[in-house]
Amino acid sequence: MKYLSSYKNLGLYSKKEFIFDDIICDNLKYLLPLYLFILFYTIYKYAKNIKIKNLIYIIIFSFISSDLASAIIHCYISDRSYFKNEIEIKDDYLIIETNSGYSSNHHMFPSNWKDVPDLTIITSTMTIIIPPLILTSLFIKSNELGLISALNFGMIIMMPIIHKYCHEKHHNRYVPPLLDFFYDTKIILQPSKHSTHHFENIYNWSIINSLSDFILNNFIKIKCYFFNMCPDEEVLKNCKEYLKIYNTDIVRIKFVGDIEGKINVKLNGNLFYEA
Ligand SMILES: [Zn+2]
Ligand SMILES: [Zn+2]
Repeated sequence: MKYLSSYKNLGLYSKKEFIFDDIICDNLKYLLPLYLFILFYTIYKYAKNIKIKNLIYIIIFSFISSDLASAIIHCYISDRSYFKNEIEIKDDYLIIETNSGYSSNHHMFPSNWKDVPDLTIITSTMTIIIPPLILTSLFIKSNELGLISALNFGMIIMMPIIHKYCHEKHHNRYVPPLLDFFYDTKIILQPSKHSTHHFENIYNWSIINSLSDFILNNFIKIKCYFFNMCPDEEVLKNCKEYLKIYNTDIVRIKFVGDIEGKINVKLNGNLFYEA
């Protein structure tokens, strides 16, 4: 069985690479120097009046809190673990929405980030993150709180890039040298750790460094055990539902949205394979 790698590998092409239309993203790229200036100036503005010892505590705290934010975004928004949308079937095809370009349905295509260029990822995440960074810096007067906020926004900007190259490293493909150094020194998310998330489907949602996994994991376990609110990645859940309805081992899928096309897949555990 051949596992699904990315949409392009299957001959499926997206109308846009990532979140914004390509033409908009191409123009937003010119704002990158301004975005970077705002980010680093904000960090400098708050950091310059803080003692070295406190700086170290703040960096460690921000490293963990941004990781926790990445886990929450991943669990609740990307994986849609608690969305209660009804499964949609039309002409015996399971309908799956693709609305974030080549990064759509990451669990189905674990290597799909490789088709989203780095510049597109950075430009898009900065366009989303820089406005709230500016807004919060207007209101936060405390240097310590301001720096924590700016560092958290900065790390969240890096979240998709760290995720992308975590998968690239897992497959022994090219990783930019600086990021490779961070993976090797275990400063950022380890591919082996992230694999467990894909294999097991539940838990270990952190994408920045996995230091906070135990926090969200235990929170979700309590929610699941005591309130019967257990997480379930939406696409995988719908595929399993389809298999039950049709009493088959092949899921016929029709993608709509950014990517249009049909594929047949098989499930092995929580991983998707070409049928
Ligand atoms: Zn996930
Ligand atoms: Zn992943």
